[in-house]
Amino acid sequence: MTETKRKLPLRSAFTVILALVAALAAPCGAEAYQSVNKYVSNGHGYLNASYLVIHETANPGASAYNHTLLWSRNGTYAVHHVMELDGSTVYNTVAENRLCWHVGNGNRYTIGIELAHATNAADFAKQWNEAVKWAGDELRAHGWDTSRLLSHYEAAQRWGGSDHTDPNGYFRAYGKTWVDFKQAVAAYLGSGYVAPIAPTDGNGGTVASPTTTAKTGSGFGGTYRCNTGRLNVRTSPSMSGTVVAGYSYGQTVSLDDWYCISNGYVWGRYTSYSGHTRYIAVGKPTGGYDPNDYLVRVGAAQSTSAQARPAQSGYRAGRYRVVVGTLNVRSGAGTGYGVVTSYRYGQTVSLDGTFVTSGGYVWGRYTSYSGRVRWIAVGTTSGVAYARAC
Ligand SMILES: [Zn+2]
Repeated sequence: MTETKRKLPLRSAFTVILALVAALAAPCGAEAYQSVNKYVSNGHGYLNASYLVIHETANPGASAYNHTLLWSRNGTYAVHHVMELDGSTVYNTVAENRLCWHVGNGNRYTIGIELAHATNAADFAKQWNEAVKWAGDELRAHGWDTSRLLSHYEAAQRWGGSDHTDPNGYFRAYGKTWVDFKQAVAAYLGSGYVAPIAPTDGNGGTVASPTTTAKTGSGFGGTYRCNTGRLNVRTSPSMSGTVVAGYSYGQTVSLDDWYCISNGYVWGRYTSYSGHTRYIAVGKPTGGYDPNDYLVRVGAAQSTSAQARPAQSGYRAGRYRVVVGTLNVRSGAGTGYGVVTSYRYGQTVSLDGTFVTSGGYVWGRYTSYSGRVRWIAVGTTSGVAYARAC
């Protein structure tokens, strides 16, 4: 009895070893790229990608491994994956559900891989073959076809915010083109058919992205009344934003002096009692008031957003100077939100007049150049200042 019981685990362990030996000796092992996890950064926030972008490092002869070391020291511009000069290894350096800064305005729609820049034809030929396989495997893993495969150049053309043209020049130097690459990936996937680039969809972004159409100081702010049965409140100004609340007919909401156009709607913005930034579709972009709008403006802007829990008096819109060594900039009003950048002692920032208290801090808000809402702790609720009006 006990003897039999003791033998079973031994037998299972032996089976596992056999399976491992078989896997290592499999015919694909000799040539296929190895996928190695070597995470260097947690990126710049959450990502739900719908396209794959191919880059080259523009760093001739520098290995993919050296890029992992470089990004370990400073991960600001780390990309999700990087492939070795001879295609032998793909390092997975940032998780695919984390945002990387690699293609300008297209960052929030895309996963990226950097091909280390080979300096001889033999390495390039090996890397080309492995990159084709890797891209095919990656597309298949996401349920995508070649319509989701973009060069950095194509991504830059599509979303803007980047003037890079890679990997076109790198491929051309070895007699290949980007079209050759797409055709090879399509062949690897079995169809041989290169699909046209996928059309704009809920998660694919529009050319006129929210960040390029966002407007402040336009007199848009004010009290709005809901003119429809049910109006969703979302976490981002897009139909793909998560629905977190709703307004019913007749309810009112106080919107910031800010709007953007996205997915065919004009979106307004406010800050919830909890300090979260919320978005709501006001109506179709007709250029002015329309009786069919979901929200109808019924009053002028208030001095502060009615939805924000007001911080104690003394804080108002204007320039603030940082009076501590380093002050983190976060994506939300709380220390639980990601740090996206920071200010140093003496630097100034223009806050828009919305202040909320959370976690013992008073948080002030501004909109970054890229159109994103940012928050800094201007001080503690007990009166210690981190930034002062100037
Ligand atoms: Zn690139």
